[in-house]
Amino acid sequence: MMKKLALHWKILIALILAFSIGLWANFSTETSTEKPAWFENLHYFSNFVGSLFLNALKMVVIPLVMTSIICGVAKIGEDKDFGRLGIKTLLFYSLTGLLAVIVGLLCVNLIEPGHVDADLRERMLAGQTSMESGKMERAFQHADGGLKGILEIFQRMIPQNLFKAAVEGQLLGLIFFSLLFGFFVARLPKKLNESQTAFWEGLNTAILSITNFVISFAPYGVFGLVTPTLMMVGIETIFVMGTFASTVLLGLAIHSFMVLPLLLHFLGKISFFKHFQALSPALLTAFSTASSSATLPVTLDCITKRAGVSKKIASFTLPLGATMNMDGTALFECVVVVFLAQLFGVEMTWVTQSTVVVMALLTSIGVAGIPSASLVAIIVILHAVGFSEATISIGVGVVFVVDRILDMTRTAVNVLGDSCAAAIIGKSEGETGYYANPRG
Ligand code: ASP
Repeated sequence: MMKKLALHWKILIALILAFSIGLWANFSTETSTEKPAWFENLHYFSNFVGSLFLNALKMVVIPLVMTSIICGVAKIGEDKDFGRLGIKTLLFYSLTGLLAVIVGLLCVNLIEPGHVDADLRERMLAGQTSMESGKMERAFQHADGGLKGILEIFQRMIPQNLFKAAVEGQLLGLIFFSLLFGFFVARLPKKLNESQTAFWEGLNTAILSITNFVISFAPYGVFGLVTPTLMMVGIETIFVMGTFASTVLLGLAIHSFMVLPLLLHFLGKISFFKHFQALSPALLTAFSTASSSATLPVTLDCITKRAGVSKKIASFTLPLGATMNMDGTALFECVVVVFLAQLFGVEMTWVTQSTVVVMALLTSIGVAGIPSASLVAIIVILHAVGFSEATISIGVGVVFVVDRILDMTRTAVNVLGDSCAAAIIGKSEGETGYYANPRG
């Protein structure tokens, strides 16, 4: 029975179980000062399962990002249109990313989901760690470190040592190298080019299969990741997180159903409805896997077969987009950082908020298209705007409670953004005959 269920249903069941068990464990031990042994064991083992899953995801990030970019660029790099297409793609990605971030900032500043009463805030934070009072203020002493953080990101774009960048998970550096590598693979003599392309494509396909295999364990992973958090935070956090989650979802909805349709209409004379219909299998896959990279084969299939965009445009824009263009992620990162600042009672000046905008745009480029990847970017941004280590781990823990469902949604928005880019860029290159066969 369980075997026949689609992955997204299994994940939903795992989430419901995690919520029920986690909250029940929290509720039934709320008054006890010392937690019973079953509580400790449940916490330990679910945590163990969760970290196995996270480790497995982290394991595939680097080869996945590198091979998909190398393959995408190597395919188009020999074309004389490479420069023009590249510039168009990057401009479009920057534009949609910027619009997404602005929508996110507006929503979080208007709704203010982090402004909770002092008592609840204390209890939420006490659930995360045993932080002494007074440490919180000290945590923000270096709240002006934003500019340095951004410059460091640019610095990391050109890694001194490729292997060090890989070991440290510096994705931006690896992306930069992969772009260069793909570009020059395309310029190799025919024989070498063929063997290189075949090699990287084989590697990419194998890595995508590993990713899919890892994602098939997502229900267990989700259970393992969410249960211990809920055991520690309890029901009140969920209420606070409810407003936060609604803020993110509202922002994502505005971006998907207002901003992107307007862009499709004005820049490509494309009907959003037809586009959405053609892309629906990819959007559902993105929603259920919470991974743009794992969705990439489906996105490519939909955009070429159902939407009618050429392979040339699709294979350049989509693999790049799956790693570099993440509208939903950028929006989410912005909302999270401002939300946490509100929660911790930190004033966010417009200068700091602009830093967040730039950082969200830059880090969403570096985030891999895998589940929960943006939490890493959030850590980078929080560091850059001056949050201390301790505050960061509390903040990320708080956000993690609702991360899965938001991840599913923002990934679908990420994929939608990539597919809009492919369709609009295709149109601008003179392609016609889109959406003739949306059900095919
Ligand atoms: N899961 C997202 C994606 O694959 C990345 C993230 O925001 O965590 O697009």
